[in-house]
Amino acid sequence: MVSRVIPVEPFDLVIFGGTGDLARRKILPGLFRRFCAGQMPKNSRIIGAARADMDAAAYQAFVGEAISEFGGARTCEDGTLQEFLAQISYQTVDIRGDNGWDMLKADLSGDGRVEAFYFSVGPSLFGDIAERLHRFGMATPDTRIVVEKPFGRDLDTAKALNATLATHFEEGQIYRIDHYLGKETVQNLMAVRFGNVLFEPLWNSQYIDHIQITVAETVGVGGRGEYYDKSGAMRDMVQNHLMQLLCLIAMEPPAKFDPDSVRDEKLKVIRALEPVELHHMVRGQYEADGDEPDYRTAVNDPRSRTESFVAIKAHVSNWRWAGTPIYLRTGKNLVARSSEIAVVFKPLAHSIFSTGEADLPSNVLAIQLQPNEGITMNVTIKEPGPGGMRLVDVPLDMTFAEALGEEGGDPPDAYERLIMDVIRGNQTLFMRGDEVEAAWAWTDPIIEGWQARHDVPKPYEPGSSGPTDSDQLMIRDNRKWREIKV
Ligand code: NAD
Repeated sequence: MVSRVIPVEPFDLVIFGGTGDLARRKILPGLFRRFCAGQMPKNSRIIGAARADMDAAAYQAFVGEAISEFGGARTCEDGTLQEFLAQISYQTVDIRGDNGWDMLKADLSGDGRVEAFYFSVGPSLFGDIAERLHRFGMATPDTRIVVEKPFGRDLDTAKALNATLATHFEEGQIYRIDHYLGKETVQNLMAVRFGNVLFEPLWNSQYIDHIQITVAETVGVGGRGEYYDKSGAMRDMVQNHLMQLLCLIAMEPPAKFDPDSVRDEKLKVIRALEPVELHHMVRGQYEADGDEPDYRTAVNDPRSRTESFVAIKAHVSNWRWAGTPIYLRTGKNLVARSSEIAVVFKPLAHSIFSTGEADLPSNVLAIQLQPNEGITMNVTIKEPGPGGMRLVDVPLDMTFAEALGEEGGDPPDAYERLIMDVIRGNQTLFMRGDEVEAAWAWTDPIIEGWQARHDVPKPYEPGSSGPTDSDQLMIRDNRKWREIKV
């Protein structure tokens, strides 16, 4: 089966921060791949807008280099790169001042096509861009803005940012990025849940013992130490990525697959999250590893109490999930780079086989998001061959990449998909303002509690699965974390 690529309408995309790291690694190579796939029309325009003083030719050279470094394995016909680069221009803009904005406006096509502005700059500049887009006549009712993370650092700052954006744009024009939502498998999770009769009847606390969501990184804070130390794992990962995954796994079936129906259901999940009890959280900081410094040295603060690891036992307080905990875990400098959601079903009520039911492994639906994407369902079957009824636990691969042809096995990167969704005007995979605020309303008291108690994170060995207290969190409940592995 060959997947279909449906081209979007021609568009203008302005990338504020067009010379930055995110633009170089993700946005620009991603756009090129959509161009190669035939999804981005040839008369679309990309305008880089940043502080650096350069002309269109220099920016095109910059984009060409970014593509050769981060372009990915997909092949393109000869000459395609030149065609793509011909659609790119650049405008030097001072986001905090007024220089360059008139020229930027003059550079837009202005023929009624979609105009999208990607805020790929530090969050302190989001408000300035919104205000100047308005003042320089670029904030029309059809304009779309794409806002990167972090969206605030607590409820108050998120509310203030929402209010600033709302001064100039309607909610339907604002696309808040959480790139986890752009992953193929995250959408496949919704297809599996809501497109099959098999799962929904079992999707509740009667059949599901617990859910584990893990986002593990092998890298430490690297050169971002001082920035990271102001946020920590809770703000950097849990409040956005892990909460979004939790919402998708726990939400009620929306009435329709449209942006507000989906986001209404996600919001209800966040609002149903109970405050987390003290003994249901573990924080950690990694130790030194040979020449690699420990967390406190890496962030240049020997007294830092910021967590580089956090594990939480969360409860969604509603009929569906009463009694089924959702365990969240994320950290840096762990044993493997792996993001996974695991839905662990309850043990068999009764085994007819000679093995007791306790010896039969539970069914597990595992959704891998990183580094490889895929969905597997562990089931018990008979071991083939003679020798009586010997049972084995095997994973069923539900990704079906081979059956779905080339794009099924090599789906668009999250950023590619999300940018195309912006152009199509589909907000389903973007966070709504009230969702972000509700997420902060849940995380704020947790962080404030740590600060008030002067909570000291537990040390953990680099290359491990986090502090031993994190294992204890599970052992106390007669459960076990799944192994973090690629
Ligand atoms: P960066 O520091 O590499 O780039 C910043 C860009 O903003 C540069 O192009 C710079 O010229 C421009 N800029 C800064 N101040 C300006 C001003 N006053 N006027 C005009 N231009 C100005 O940052 P980045 O890593 O690309 O991150 C951009 C945004 O994306 C941030 O909000 C970040 O949190 C978010 N983000 C980045 C990554 C990543 O992998 N880099 C991942 C997720 C989210």
